[in-house]
Amino acid sequence: MRVINFNAGPAGLPQPALERAREELLDFQGTGMSIMEHSHRGKEYEAVHNEAISLLTELLGIPSTHQVLFLQGGASQQFAQVPMNFLTPETSADYLMTGVWSEKARDEAKYYGQSRIAATTINADKRYTRVPKQEEMQLDPAAAYVHMTSNNTIYGTQWHTFPEVGSVPLIADMSSDLLWKPIDVSKFAMIYAGAQKNVGPSGIVLVIIDKGFMAKGSTNIPKIFRYSTYAENNSLYNTPPTFSIYLCRNVLAWIKSVGGLPQLERWNREKGELLYGMIDRHADFFRAPVEKGSRSYMNGVFRLPTEALDETFVAEAKKAGMVGLKGYRSVGGIRVSMYNAVTVDNVKTLVAFMEQFVKKHG
Ligand SMILES: *Cc1c(COP(=O)(O)O)cnc(C)c1O
Repeated sequence: MRVINFNAGPAGLPQPALERAREELLDFQGTGMSIMEHSHRGKEYEAVHNEAISLLTELLGIPSTHQVLFLQGGASQQFAQVPMNFLTPETSADYLMTGVWSEKARDEAKYYGQSRIAATTINADKRYTRVPKQEEMQLDPAAAYVHMTSNNTIYGTQWHTFPEVGSVPLIADMSSDLLWKPIDVSKFAMIYAGAQKNVGPSGIVLVIIDKGFMAKGSTNIPKIFRYSTYAENNSLYNTPPTFSIYLCRNVLAWIKSVGGLPQLERWNREKGELLYGMIDRHADFFRAPVEKGSRSYMNGVFRLPTEALDETFVAEAKKAGMVGLKGYRSVGGIRVSMYNAVTVDNVKTLVAFMEQFVKKHG
């Protein structure tokens, strides 16, 4: 029996995408082998690869100015690869600091050039409970790029209006909220996302990059780290993680079959309203640190009155068939990750459990 999975990442996958993989596992389309066992240069794999790219392009409405790439090394490798390609000792990049992942991204920039903090919402407790307002950003008009984290998986904050950065290229780490709703891709010079939160399994990073911006990348770095290498070879320069890409294809096809991103946004908003509605009705019991305007629809965080109650909550939820609710190790408390694979009914089950939990322990 499958549990209700609120893991933050790797996270649950939509059941129809897994069922399709099960059906095709031993014999992919009558070829007598799994897609994993096919050559990445064969027509069977290539069709899956190109279908994943075209589904992503269609679902997000990616304009022809931009190209989809598949990379490896996780979003963490992108923290380094972005400055490796686009920063030099003579140039400087702006970083918008909204959490642990923004900090890690900026830490990698120092190996290649200058980096500035254009805004930070770190508080006296060294935590982040909101994203910056436009007027708080001190942007350098000469910056090589502005880097932001669209959803802060650990602190449970999310940008609901993207920053205005003028003509400076905007780069977003969307690892934990790409595909949660439609977005205007043309605002971004580059988007990257490790797939294992909201898109697919681990092992694959989706990159959506403006071709003109990509052309400015350094050629003084190894080929394998240049975005242009992946672009020129349709992300088949070397062997890609074929099974991860195949599973992403299954998830993207499922998204299309249920009505695309407008439908996912309706479900995601409904889930968020259910969870935050419950939190706000019992605000002295479910203590949510995040300012309302910055609340994440992907990761809802709160604490109970004591750490012992946090543990009881996680243990009792597990008995009721719900897992993955423990907060990030440095933050504690409870984190409810409600990515696309988590259904409205799953969140209704959790919220009913929370109601009972307050009655019993409140
Ligand atoms: C999980 C996460 C990362 C790190 O991803 P890896 O694939 O483990 O490198 C980076 N950024 C965000 C926003 C994340 O949620």
